[in-house]
Amino acid sequence: MIHIRNVTKTYGRRQNRFVAIDDISFDVPEGTSVAIMGKSGSGKSTLMHAISGLDRPQKGQVIIGDKDILQLHGHELDRFRANEMGFIFQSFFVEGNASCYHNVALPLEIARLRPWKRKKLILEALEKVEMSDKVHAPARDLSGGQKQRLAIARAIVNSPKLIFADEPTGNLDSGTGERIMDLLFDLNRKMGSTLFIVTHDADLANRCKLRIHVKDGRIVSMAGQTKKEKQS
Ligand code: ADP
Ligand code: MG
Repeated sequence: MIHIRNVTKTYGRRQNRFVAIDDISFDVPEGTSVAIMGKSGSGKSTLMHAISGLDRPQKGQVIIGDKDILQLHGHELDRFRANEMGFIFQSFFVEGNASCYHNVALPLEIARLRPWKRKKLILEALEKVEMSDKVHAPARDLSGGQKQRLAIARAIVNSPKLIFADEPTGNLDSGTGERIMDLLFDLNRKMGSTLFIVTHDADLANRCKLRIHVKDGRIVSMAGQTKKEKQS
């Protein structure tokens, strides 16, 4: 179980202080899929950044396994994230001048995996997203959908326990978006990765086992499987 406890994130100071996430708590069974929904500005990305340790909230705990990841020191957290997490954030652009191969290699370099161990994982990840023919192509030559698939290959190359996707299909046509999501749910099933997805898409949210609605930095509703229900 992943426990998110009393997480509060504020921006600014004094009269400019703004509470983006207000004392949010919920539990997520490992291996499940979670949709985070809500209007623009409601705090979805801030919540994702807090749960993934990309950002440090002022208060709260994010307990994964036996660790509160918010208590980890900078380099411990970096290592944990490189080993256990994958990210598909709209703002995480691919490196245009680097090849697809080198884009996917990045998390493995951060995780300090030995170079001779990297190659197999990189080629496998590119194969999963059907990009084997683009291994040496510079990322800038890819289409939007291909770039997003490349971002997914990079997110899954370390077989992460947790995958965070912030509006992963926002910039894609519906056909491409659907194939990308099929891929993410496939990984969720086959690797047992816990999937967190920020989305405006109701169909996509309905494919998730748990749906969380955020408004003004608070959870207003939660639907689907909870810890009290039997896991299928
Ligand atoms: P969402 O992803 O749901 O659109 P965000 O989590 O990005 O919302 O933002 C929630 C609120 O926090 C918004 O009002 C936004 O303006 C504010 N906010 C987000 N990031 C910052 C920041 N770095 N500095 C100040 N305010 C921010
Ligand atoms: Mg956002």
